[in-house]
Amino acid sequence: MEAHRLRSRDEFLALVNDPAFAPRWSLERHLAELHQYETRFVVAGVCAVCRRGVDFAVDFAGAWEAGDGLRIPNWRESMRCPRCELSGRQRRVSELVEAAVADRRGRAPVALYLMEALSPLYRSLSRRLLDASVVGSEYLADDAAGGARPRSVRHEDAERLSFADASFDVVVSCDVFEHVNDPRRAFAEVARVLRAGGRAVLTFPVDLDLERHRRRAERVGAEVRHLLPPIRHGNPLSPEGALVYTDFGWDVLGDLRDAGLDDPVLELYWSYERGYLGLQFCVLAGKA
Ligand SMILES: [Zn+2]
Repeated sequence: MEAHRLRSRDEFLALVNDPAFAPRWSLERHLAELHQYETRFVVAGVCAVCRRGVDFAVDFAGAWEAGDGLRIPNWRESMRCPRCELSGRQRRVSELVEAAVADRRGRAPVALYLMEALSPLYRSLSRRLLDASVVGSEYLADDAAGGARPRSVRHEDAERLSFADASFDVVVSCDVFEHVNDPRRAFAEVARVLRAGGRAVLTFPVDLDLERHRRRAERVGAEVRHLLPPIRHGNPLSPEGALVYTDFGWDVLGDLRDAGLDDPVLELYWSYERGYLGLQFCVLAGKA
């Protein structure tokens, strides 16, 4: 298992251009070549959540094509464990959350907030962290009130959470911030609801070649203005998908700091054994 905590694009470039990185690309290409003409395949490994050997399931949904036409699976969203149903990204988040919760034990009860409630990650964490209080929410409707439960699921808007200041020891947000109009406001909300010494475990796409973020869309009143061609990501709660407002660059770490979060880093992790292939990362920060 390798985890590199990066603070700049220069650190990232030094890491991926290191010859020690080359065998990984080679192994990933080999796996893709072996299974190029299949619709799905398995890769044996050890699930860090189930703590046992499993066959991770891979398909070519969201695959990308290398320069020579080879289809490379979206390793981050596939490599699903057949037992806990978590993707590679969700298993790494789960490991980081468990470590953060363990750090806070003794101040019991540890309070955890996830910006998701209808997901295998939420189900898995609430089943396993029995001595913690686990709150999950979804963005259900533009006119729903924060904290309301219109469909027996709590509604929250990441830009205006309804929780009191310093409510949680750990805040988890997976692939939400690219979809909010004002991510800096959402980061400030994460900082506000975290307790001193708490941890934020975040995932969202960052274009690692980009120093500064790019706005794709902005909301003015009820109107959405497109500054770049619209991109939407799959969203189980809406058939048209979720609009991407921001392409994040490395300046997001400064934005997180400005929002009141401490020592934000981009953690790039890789493990063949645990099924974390490709260039996967999450963003970690604390609250001083
Ligand atoms: Zn598992």
